Amino acid sequence: MSDVNLADAEVVDDHVHPYRVADLVARDPGGFEARCTFLGTCFMSSSRSDPKTWARVEELSDSSIFALTLRRWLAGYLGCEPTKEAVAAARAEALRADAVGYTTGLLADEHVVGVLSDEGYPQPPIPAEEFEKDLGVAVHRVARLEPWIVEHREEPFDDLVSAVEEEVEKAAGDPRCVAFKSIIAYRTGLDVGDPAPGEAADAHARWRRDGWRESREHAKPVRDFLLRRTMAAAKRNDRPVHIHCGGGDADIQLGHARPQDLFPLLVDHAHQPIVLIHGGDPWVPEAGYVASVLPNVYLDLSALIPWAWSWIDWVLETLIGMVPTTKLLYGSDEASEPEVFWVGARIARKALDRTLAGMVDRDLLTPDEAEKVGRDVLAGNTQRLHGISAAPS
Ligand SMILES: [Zn+2]
Repeated sequence: MSDVNLADAEVVDDHVHPYRVADLVARDPGGFEARCTFLGTCFMSSSRSDPKTWARVEELSDSSIFALTLRRWLAGYLGCEPTKEAVAAARAEALRADAVGYTTGLLADEHVVGVLSDEGYPQPPIPAEEFEKDLGVAVHRVARLEPWIVEHREEPFDDLVSAVEEEVEKAAGDPRCVAFKSIIAYRTGLDVGDPAPGEAADAHARWRRDGWRESREHAKPVRDFLLRRTMAAAKRNDRPVHIHCGGGDADIQLGHARPQDLFPLLVDHAHQPIVLIHGGDPWVPEAGYVASVLPNVYLDLSALIPWAWSWIDWVLETLIGMVPTTKLLYGSDEASEPEVFWVGARIARKALDRTLAGMVDRDLLTPDEAEKVGRDVLAGNTQRLHGISAAPS
């Protein structure tokens, strides 16, 4: 098997969520493995989770390949026995002694030099400046549309539209803000229409009478209209737009979350860069097709990495084969525990190494080309697309 040298490759994580160190330290140390799993992460972010079922989530982490591997790898890193109890204790002690030092150590171990922080979750937002102090690497902002809608929707429709546009301009005035984001897949679906201003204003009045209940009848035309306005403003300000595309926690509108639902909007905006966050997961080949046919559609690999786990080699093989590789962006979707930065980067590095080496063996790539692809996916593509260097802005 050929060797692709990615051991020292830098990583820029294009999709993470900020947390506060005080909250990190305060959480139950025994539940951290479960909180790192896809199930646990989704449980914590979904409005539909029943706290009474958290014990079940913890129990299931014992049979999650992701949790078992994380436990063993982390035991190696912490120098303790690879048991659930020993790892939880060693990790809790490391956090207690120096939570920031423990985090910066994990990031340095995997050469993570920067992250893009989606400030839409959790709410209220945790400032990037604050998160940067706790991570010790550059934190760039991704500003989200949906909280602005909640903040301004009580206003008359025209004022709502101007307020959202002003929020976009204000965020764009901050060099730390490198992209805008929408999670419309969680609200009214990815099949975004193109309502006229009058239609959207009428829908806004109906949505108000409906008590701001989320619905495709009343809320959808307003959200669709505002997303298009946000995309236009992002284009004027030379910023990419990140759109959650694919599954997520249990709040997702799963029937309207596929890449194909988003396709008409993407075709309408063919001249501006759009990143499909989560690479259409679980509809990966569909997202791969979309990014292979539309030149300015990019795919973020977060959620697939780290949680698709054994599936990630297949994902990379599929997407690297289908999509021009400068459009594939590494991400972890870390949302509460610093180990996710570390394990995400580690699994991505190893999986890219295996996948690209296989392509060298099949004479599809030279070793130098393979190494460049790997380094670009881990960091370079995100840096170029968002106009950032590894150093803090
Ligand atoms: Zn996320």
